[in-house]
Amino acid sequence: MLLPENKERGFAMEQIKAYGVQNAVSLLSPLQITRRVVGAEDVAIDIAYCGVCHSDIHQVRNEWGNSIYPMVPGHEIVGIVTAVGSKVKRFKVGDKVGVGCMVDSCGECPDCKEGLEQFCSHAVMTYNSLEKDKKTLAQGGYSTKIVVQQDFVLSIPKNLPLDKTAPLLCAGITTYSPLRHWRAGPGKRVAIIGLGGLGHMAVKIAHAMKAEVTVLTRTLDKETDAKQLGADHVFATSDAQTFEKLARHFDLIINTVSVKLDWGQYLGLLKRDGSMVLLGVPSDAPQLHAFPLIMGRRSLAGSLIGGIKETQEMLDFCGKHKITADIELIPIGKINEAYERILKAQVRYRFVIDMASLKK
Ligand SMILES: [Zn+2]
Ligand SMILES: [Zn+2]
Repeated sequence: MLLPENKERGFAMEQIKAYGVQNAVSLLSPLQITRRVVGAEDVAIDIAYCGVCHSDIHQVRNEWGNSIYPMVPGHEIVGIVTAVGSKVKRFKVGDKVGVGCMVDSCGECPDCKEGLEQFCSHAVMTYNSLEKDKKTLAQGGYSTKIVVQQDFVLSIPKNLPLDKTAPLLCAGITTYSPLRHWRAGPGKRVAIIGLGGLGHMAVKIAHAMKAEVTVLTRTLDKETDAKQLGADHVFATSDAQTFEKLARHFDLIINTVSVKLDWGQYLGLLKRDGSMVLLGVPSDAPQLHAFPLIMGRRSLAGSLIGGIKETQEMLDFCGKHKITADIELIPIGKINEAYERILKAQVRYRFVIDMASLKK
């Protein structure tokens, strides 16, 4: 349904179905949101599936203290193009496309010019963010439709199934980018800490890059799974001997967990000049002594999703190597239950919402 002209943005708005929250303590429930109609540079997407990221929960519940309501989360969006603006050349109606964590950026700063839009201080995130007009709330993928500036729309390789591809838009790029940046590849020993949504993608991607992959996980419960995903070795971090056996062993450690760990202990597993990259954000900062860094010229680093160019590169890489996420498909009505199961680490390895359940 089309609403009257929105004078502030200069174009009509369309009302669509979504699922979201009104405040930090409410459960997710149905709500209506408006999307702009397609501008010259826009792509309209009928959303088929949306992955459920742990950061959706953090933001819905205002755990990072920056939430804006009402909020429709979701930044692992895949669907089919239903309309394109007059200046859109790369996409046409019927194309399989994706949208990740960002929907716009300034386009002019050094980060944007280098294709690293995720570091742009004016980047518009897919939800919990204001659009460039600084007024309109960006709303995410737990909805039936989205309209996105063409430069932030990704092509999905034709051979990949849409539902299992959705998590690549956040979990995939978040792990691909540091593996590429720190040069995972043949002859490199890479450790992945944690085997959740991010960790299981990191294992698949690092394996496809031909690195020697070790999973470091609290217990050996998931050992069989880890090896099926592509891990060469699995070690339990609850076993103190693990840290002796693997001392000075790895070129790169990707830390996907957001619980507090003894970073110094893990840095001791790096060879000289090795790096440990943080992807998760523990709620309180661990203490770190300088010795594990100095003794071996090691680095402690962080990484944030990836730029649009690299996200397309990741999708093409996953198409070539037939990599998708291991998912549990749910109707939108199960989303609150899914959040509780994510918090108990009871999903192997990503929930994906079948958006047909919202269109009924
Ligand atoms: Zn995410
Ligand atoms: Zn910028």
